[in-house]
Amino acid sequence: MNARDEELPSGAGALISARGLRKSYGKTEALRGASLDLHEGEILAVTGTSGSGKSTLLHCLSGIVRPDDGVVAYGKEDLGLLPEQRLSELRRSDFGVVFQFGQLIPELTALDNVALPLLLAGIRRGTANEQAGEWLERFGIRGQADLRPGEMSGGQSQRVALARALVTGPKAVFADEPTGALDSLAGEQVMTALVHAARESATAVLLITHDAQTAAYADREVWLRDGVVHSGSAAVTGHEAVRHEG
Ligand code: ADP
Ligand code: MG
Repeated sequence: MNARDEELPSGAGALISARGLRKSYGKTEALRGASLDLHEGEILAVTGTSGSGKSTLLHCLSGIVRPDDGVVAYGKEDLGLLPEQRLSELRRSDFGVVFQFGQLIPELTALDNVALPLLLAGIRRGTANEQAGEWLERFGIRGQADLRPGEMSGGQSQRVALARALVTGPKAVFADEPTGALDSLAGEQVMTALVHAARESATAVLLITHDAQTAAYADREVWLRDGVVHSGSAAVTGHEAVRHEG
């Protein structure tokens, strides 16, 4: 809990509510008052041109980066004000993250990469391996369990990264262009795996993507433009404007 408890946005029962986020890197204003609600169990696509602040928004919502201003409410906690220890606890237990290039640990096998978050949470090696194996099975990559990331295809690696993000049973998964480096077939396999798993466990997914085909898997779509979130028809207008200016 924190001093700003009573001011926290509740976003009509949202799992995570962000209001007025600002984040600058030197003179670059990556976020300029971005607001967003991520509801329990929903799949929300965030699109926008390169440099519009999508990754920065994901980093703020998942507690990887602290905004300069604004609030990220997760239940009664403001992520921007939490001590580092509590943030890393949330990142381990409540949030899962998937990046464009998997970012698996190259020295570990697929199975060990997926088991790692469980081991960090204090689960015994045998149980961790068993659960990790079940996730690999579910994503059709059990046969790759003993391979290291360098020995797998991009699509297989991304499914390992998904398994690693989901194995702890998080409330939310943050995926930053998870199909961005894949061909369309591998991209579809990754998205199908992610969507099925998220639906089954009612895990919310914040899905950042450039690609309309990937965004089509989402329940809802918002646009980011110049560090501000737009939704609905106004967003489409904004998107058109970007194209014409560009
Ligand atoms: P997107 O994911 O939509 O491409 P980003 O959130 O990565 O956008 O970046 C938004 C802006 O902030 C860009 O101009 C980018 O160059 C800048 N930026 C992002 N991260 C950093 C950083 N760590 N250091 C400096 N500039 C950054
Ligand atoms: Mg990005």
